[in-house]
Amino acid sequence: RATIYNTLDLLVESGLAVKHQFKDKVALYEQALTYKHHDHHVCNQCRKIREFSDPKINEIKEEIGKSFKSSITSHSLVLYGDCEIANCENLEMI
Ligand SMILES: [Zn+2]
Repeated sequence: RATIYNTLDLLVESGLAVKHQFKDKVALYEQALTYKHHDHHVCNQCRKIREFSDPKINEIKEEIGKSFKSSITSHSLVLYGDCEIANCENLEMI
């Protein structure tokens, strides 16, 4: 396992992968070459990670950039929530 993580960190360092660090030490590695920006939703219970992309977030980025007189180069947004399905944690195991 340690070897896998060392390799993944090397891929991140060389720009081939993107690492998202979530709370509770949960990390997600994604391929950088085909990477199109998106944000993540993480379930507090089952830890399922889902991707989303919403143009409103770009609008907010531009507004905040203007008000801070900053050219925003990147952002990261993670929404944490609970799946509506009861016992989603157990369902994920099946
Ligand atoms: Zn869940």
